[in-house]
Amino acid sequence: MSVLEIFETMDYGPAPESPAAANAWLEDHQRKFGLFINNQWVMPEKADMYPSFNPATGEQLAETTQAGQAEVDAAVAAARTAFKHWSTTPGSVRARYMYALARNIQKHHRLLAVLESLDNGKPIRESRDIDVPLLARHFYYYAGWAQLMESELHEYQPVGVVGQIIPWNFPLLMLAWKIAPAIAMGNTVVLKPASYTRLSALLFAEVVAEAGLPPGVVNIITGSSKAGTMLVKHPDVDKIAFTGSTEVGRILRRQTAGTGKKLSLELGGKSPFVVFEDADLDGAVEGVVDAIWFNQGQVCCAGSRLLVQENVADQFIAKLKTRMGHMRVGDPLDKSIDMGAIVDQTQWDTVDKWVKTGVQEGGMLFQPEIRLPEQGLFYPPTLITHLNPAAATVQEEIFGPVLVSLTFRSPEEAVALANNTRYGLAASVWSDNINLALDVASKIKAGSVWVNCTNQFDAASGFGGYRESGFGREGGREGLFEYLRPAWKARPRPDFTLPEPGDQKPSWGTAVPARPLIPAGNGAKSDGQPTVDRTPKMYIGGRQARPDGHYTRAVVDPKGHLVGQVGDGNRKDIRNAVEAAHAAHTAKPGWAMRHGYNRSQILYFIAENLDARREEFARRISSMTGRTQKSAREEVDLAVTRLFSYAAWADKYGGTVQETTLHGITVAVNEPIGVIGIACPEDDPLLGFVSLMAPAIARGNTVVMIPSEKYPLSATDFYQVLDTSDVPPGVVNIVTGDRDHLVLTLIQHEDVDAVWYFGPPEGCYHVEYESAVNMKRTWVNYGEPRDWASQAQGEGHDFLHEATQVKNIWVPTGE
Ligand code: NAP
Repeated sequence: MSVLEIFETMDYGPAPESPAAANAWLEDHQRKFGLFINNQWVMPEKADMYPSFNPATGEQLAETTQAGQAEVDAAVAAARTAFKHWSTTPGSVRARYMYALARNIQKHHRLLAVLESLDNGKPIRESRDIDVPLLARHFYYYAGWAQLMESELHEYQPVGVVGQIIPWNFPLLMLAWKIAPAIAMGNTVVLKPASYTRLSALLFAEVVAEAGLPPGVVNIITGSSKAGTMLVKHPDVDKIAFTGSTEVGRILRRQTAGTGKKLSLELGGKSPFVVFEDADLDGAVEGVVDAIWFNQGQVCCAGSRLLVQENVADQFIAKLKTRMGHMRVGDPLDKSIDMGAIVDQTQWDTVDKWVKTGVQEGGMLFQPEIRLPEQGLFYPPTLITHLNPAAATVQEEIFGPVLVSLTFRSPEEAVALANNTRYGLAASVWSDNINLALDVASKIKAGSVWVNCTNQFDAASGFGGYRESGFGREGGREGLFEYLRPAWKARPRPDFTLPEPGDQKPSWGTAVPARPLIPAGNGAKSDGQPTVDRTPKMYIGGRQARPDGHYTRAVVDPKGHLVGQVGDGNRKDIRNAVEAAHAAHTAKPGWAMRHGYNRSQILYFIAENLDARREEFARRISSMTGRTQKSAREEVDLAVTRLFSYAAWADKYGGTVQETTLHGITVAVNEPIGVIGIACPEDDPLLGFVSLMAPAIARGNTVVMIPSEKYPLSATDFYQVLDTSDVPPGVVNIVTGDRDHLVLTLIQHEDVDAVWYFGPPEGCYHVEYESAVNMKRTWVNYGEPRDWASQAQGEGHDFLHEATQVKNIWVPTGE
């Protein structure tokens, strides 16, 4: 195009970025790469190679190695050796290494950005101005946490060797989210980039070596999903951190089940972009452009579901279509384009298939008449309107430049539509009414909510999902806990042989018939006049309930004498309990909506009423367990103290203001998880029960408690304490019976958001395995004992962390 033509059309002229430096780097390696292990390039003798292409041109950029088992083993061994030294290196020294690394990233900023755009197809404007600056920012930010670890996190230790698997949409940024917090906390890593985009991670490896990090701290292996599986299954890997699709996340949840490996999953999304009638509509249109066409829509948190208030919908859609007509799709290395290329032909085909599905589902398709390059994997910005909220195109993640739109009438309807998804990664809310915007932001179930802005990221704020968008956070202080374990606790090594794939369906969780009666002559003794019979029941929705199956279970003391009988709960009882817990959670105002002050008052009241019945509870513990009255009394006293602790925490764990780079306020809110199913430990019948129930309800969750199977009578006595302590119906529900059978129903229930299980290793395996169905959060002990009487093990941050999930709300300020 000549200058005169540009002047006449007033179109942008091309502003190409040179690929020369990136090509020179590729040439230096003869466009052939091995694996980066121990700060060295390792080229296996007989490895298969895999080509990397530039999606904008189809040109082959380089070949990379397909790691096999030997290479994965070598990388893990290198990380293990390095861990010995790195984990004991003072935090202040690790901080210096990380600082040097951050500086090195800045030195090679342009090279990293250009290579990223060549390999992935993303606009250079984005890789240069967003991805690489954030890459450096993460290493600076977490260098700070390395520096502060000893003083601020002394109750914790590093996890060990971490396997990290990342997707192709933000190769460098995802790598930063994973590596920076891990090595800051003294872990060592083996990272596998996605197959489509391997090159920038390999360049990063050289930046690591140049910064002088000790060998083995950061290892990068390339390979297919098979190499990913090898890493996940490697026995010497202590944690897996994964970002990718929910489908693969599910596989990983199952593969790591019962192994004692920590797991964090950052998965897919279908995030709502909500526009109210009073929003600045022109601003919101620009917001949509950033929300869905940033990185060609290949963004996990893309605002891909537009929800517009009905009375401004036509006007808004018209403005949006006009704006779409001015979008520029083209060469990723051209600084004046808005959208680059889709990463690969397979992904392009998937996007196109979804668009066709949307049309088949009755949607109206709009694609502006704009120029696309004749070659390369380009796809126009796409809008589909008039779809049904249940349409697959509205529900499923497309992961491309495709926006679907719906309308709503009221804020309640907006919230209902926003939450009408199995995901919960992010949301964007647009309104000039700050009360409305913040109210809606608090009601949407998502890990990040942006008010009058979108796609804001910073190292100082955690990112991660609710529901099937995964669990764990990356970024901020909250992101550190994915790479730490309590100082008192070594990695669990469960003593349990995992079933082989294809094994027959296990019988775990099938109901075992209860022993209802004790043979004659072996029953409870009575002196003289018989005592008045007391029949413990279940406790569901604030009422005593008989078991649905009308069976009972005998409770015996260590000598085999009958001390009581409890209901033998079944699936129906659990379903009733979950229904009650769910109703108590979602009621208006539900338990979660109450002030922390109110919840703390109720917890104090429970403590007060338990203390008033101290002797009776001690007698009960003693009669079931055979322990002395003194020891039983100590257990009751500790339970009262624990209730006091969580009464204290009920209004002191709300969240924090994050110091991000946003001009405005970023608030991290520790929200309750929802309905938690809790299987209590066998021993410490009262203390175990209270230590798990109290943190959960203190933080606004409602619970279904399965008490100790052996000693359930402390829990069935406890409902009388609850009854007299102003606990609203449904907040605490108690179902007695066969623990594993009841837990299986809980874990499979769609309305249960998390399951805590303190039982044998086999049960822990099944709980983690089954949780993959809807990616519930789980907390299990892998069969390892915990000293419930100890303050370090029986209460504190660990419990509060498990009882909450962090939502970050971003509110820009100023004109
Ligand atoms: P993907 O297919 O799940 O792959 C992600 C990574 O996992 C790749 O490195 C892949 O290797 C590897 N992998 C695939 N199957 C595996 C297996 N069975 N075992 C071990 N590793 C395996 O996802 P993607 O298509 O690359 O990325 C898109 C997805 O990532 C979207 O769903 C998006 O929403 C999500 N995402 C989430 C976040 C977040 O923070 N929540 C951020 C970005 C992206 P290969 O490439 O070699 O197959």
